[in-house]
Amino acid sequence: MSVVIDYDKCKGPECAECVNTCPVEVFEIQGNKVVVARESDCTLCMVCVDVCPTNAITVKED
Ligand code: SF4
Ligand code: SF4
Repeated sequence: MSVVIDYDKCKGPECAECVNTCPVEVFEIQGNKVVVARESDCTLCMVCVDVCPTNAITVKED
Protein backbone atom coordinates (compact mmCIF):
# COMPACT_ATOMS: atom_id res chain seq x y z
CA MET A 1 0.00 0.00 0.00
CA SER A 2 1.01 3.60 -0.17
CA VAL A 3 0.33 6.30 2.41
CA VAL A 4 1.15 9.80 1.19
CA ILE A 5 0.87 13.22 2.85
CA ASP A 6 0.39 16.25 0.63
CA TYR A 7 2.55 18.86 2.35
CA ASP A 8 0.82 21.68 0.52
CA LYS A 9 -2.26 20.80 2.63
CA CYS A 10 -0.86 19.31 5.86
CA LYS A 11 -1.04 21.58 8.92
CA GLY A 12 1.79 19.72 10.63
CA PRO A 13 2.34 18.86 14.30
CA GLU A 14 -0.14 21.47 15.52
CA CYS A 15 -2.81 19.22 13.96
CA ALA A 16 -1.41 15.68 14.35
CA GLU A 17 -4.88 14.11 14.10
CA CYS A 18 -3.44 11.31 11.99
CA VAL A 19 -0.63 10.68 14.47
CA ASN A 20 -3.15 10.45 17.31
CA THR A 21 -5.74 8.28 15.58
CA CYS A 22 -3.93 5.76 13.38
CA PRO A 23 -4.37 2.50 15.33
CA VAL A 24 -1.04 1.09 14.15
CA GLU A 25 1.04 4.28 14.48
CA VAL A 26 1.98 4.73 10.84
CA PHE A 27 2.54 8.47 11.35
CA GLU A 28 4.98 10.26 13.60
CA ILE A 29 6.17 13.78 14.31
CA GLN A 30 9.73 14.47 13.18
CA GLY A 31 10.85 17.99 13.93
CA ASN A 32 8.23 20.36 12.50
CA LYS A 33 6.71 17.76 10.18
CA VAL A 34 4.28 14.87 10.37
CA VAL A 35 5.75 11.99 8.39
CA VAL A 36 4.76 8.51 7.22
CA ALA A 37 7.16 6.46 9.33
CA ARG A 38 5.75 2.93 9.10
CA GLU A 39 3.89 2.71 5.82
CA SER A 40 4.10 -1.09 5.63
CA ASP A 41 2.14 -1.41 8.91
CA CYS A 42 -0.94 0.23 7.36
CA THR A 43 -4.08 -1.92 7.48
CA LEU A 44 -6.04 0.26 5.02
CA CYS A 45 -8.58 1.17 7.72
CA MET A 46 -8.92 4.72 6.28
CA VAL A 47 -9.36 6.38 9.68
CA CYS A 48 -6.59 8.88 8.87
CA VAL A 49 -8.30 9.87 5.64
CA ASP A 50 -11.52 10.46 7.59
CA VAL A 51 -9.96 12.53 10.38
CA CYS A 52 -7.58 14.70 8.36
CA PRO A 53 -9.19 18.16 8.32
CA THR A 54 -7.54 19.22 5.06
CA ASN A 55 -7.79 16.01 3.01
CA ALA A 56 -4.00 15.85 2.89
CA ILE A 57 -3.70 12.07 3.13
CA THR A 58 -4.01 9.59 0.31
CA VAL A 59 -4.05 5.85 1.10
CA LYS A 60 -3.98 3.38 -1.74
CA GLU A 61 -3.87 -0.36 -1.94
CA ASP A 62 -1.27 -1.23 -4.53
S1 SF4 B 1 -4.34 14.88 9.97
FE1 SF4 B 1 -3.85 15.78 7.97
S2 SF4 B 1 -3.39 17.95 8.36
FE2 SF4 B 1 -3.31 16.85 10.31
S3 SF4 B 1 -1.16 16.31 10.58
FE3 SF4 B 1 -2.16 14.57 9.60
S4 SF4 B 1 -1.87 14.88 7.39
FE4 SF4 B 1 -1.45 16.82 8.41
S1 SF4 C 1 -5.38 3.80 6.69
FE1 SF4 C 1 -5.55 3.29 8.88
S2 SF4 C 1 -3.76 2.03 9.31
FE2 SF4 C 1 -3.38 3.07 7.36
S3 SF4 C 1 -2.24 4.90 7.88
FE3 SF4 C 1 -4.41 5.47 7.83
S4 SF4 C 1 -5.17 5.23 9.94
FE4 SF4 C 1 -3.20 4.15 9.78
